[in-house]
Amino acid sequence: MGDSIWQSMQQKGYSRREFMQLCSAAAAAAGLSKSAVGQVASAFEKKAKPPVVWLHYQECTGCSESFIRASHPVVADALLDVISLNYSETLMAPSGFQAEKSLSDTIANNKGKYILVVEGAVPTKDGGVYCMVAGKSALQSLKTVAKDAAAIIAWGSCASFGGVQAAKPNPTEAVAISKIVDKPVINVPGCPPIADVMMSVVTHILVLGQLPALDSQGRPKEFYGRRVHDTCYRRPNYDAGLFVESFDDENARKGYCLYKLGCRGPVTYNACSVTRWNEGTSNPIQSGHPCIGCSEDGFWDNEPFYQHLASFPGFGIESTADTLGTAVGVATVAGVAAHAVLTTIRKRSVIAEVHAEDHKES
Ligand code: SF4
Ligand code: SF4
Repeated sequence: MGDSIWQSMQQKGYSRREFMQLCSAAAAAAGLSKSAVGQVASAFEKKAKPPVVWLHYQECTGCSESFIRASHPVVADALLDVISLNYSETLMAPSGFQAEKSLSDTIANNKGKYILVVEGAVPTKDGGVYCMVAGKSALQSLKTVAKDAAAIIAWGSCASFGGVQAAKPNPTEAVAISKIVDKPVINVPGCPPIADVMMSVVTHILVLGQLPALDSQGRPKEFYGRRVHDTCYRRPNYDAGLFVESFDDENARKGYCLYKLGCRGPVTYNACSVTRWNEGTSNPIQSGHPCIGCSEDGFWDNEPFYQHLASFPGFGIESTADTLGTAVGVATVAGVAAHAVLTTIRKRSVIAEVHAEDHKES
């Protein structure tokens, strides 16, 4: 049996306090209550680090960049301490035959125990020849490695939904990995996804011995259960009908809502507004960029990104990811448009009333 997380942290000179900090962060990331920190600590003390095989197919490797550049010390350190990364084309030291041996040894010695992480879509056209690693197509290797995996995580929008490769006209007939394997897949979409989510998923598997609760699109509910719009700090401006009209205008400088610049926050499920990036410093909307819906199925085909589309079918403001399902991903927001129009009318009438009052007084 391999080292436990605590053993491996001790070897690296971490203190017990730092270990407990990791356990607290892992419990929080996994959506567990404070009282579960002891349970996490016990699991991290006793259980061997789960072996991980990380495969790369059709993608840009931005998801790995997000993962390894996680600047939050706990996430960055802990993730690499919590898992035993046995095979990863981009992160491992060995290459060539040595790397291939590492992959086959991991599968042979850890049947039913290793976690498979997949980054990128799988091309299916012409027998899958458009993505080959070590003489094997992505199609072949995915089936082989998935067969004995304890859990499968699709890391990023390409692995989860096909991503840019599957955008029209999809020349290689790229598909999500869930279309290839016949086991449950935990989809962690985003372009790129948020590193903390990986921490949560791995902690769930390790501590609770189960997959986290997933929504209808296979995404962990803890992170994808709410729309970006629901937790957006610009939301009060949306509700007040205060919108940015063009990039860098006066309203943009005031931090008004980006809906009129095409923001897909109202139909996008992700934790960007809550978790954020760079030690929780910021997120795209906070930087003045509208959400383009990168964690939704087929988002690349929902262009143009910087115009709000008038053809979204209506949706209830209280809808959940489960009830909305995939229909939302390809649509836009008549409901939101109506809201925006009504709010603007309401705002204008309030302004008109105030002006009328002013005239009366003068
Ligand atoms: S439309 Fe976009 S910018 Fe406006 S409140 Fe919603 S998520 Fe935030
Ligand atoms: S704000 Fe929207 S487009 Fe940007 S990362 Fe989050 S979900 Fe993706």
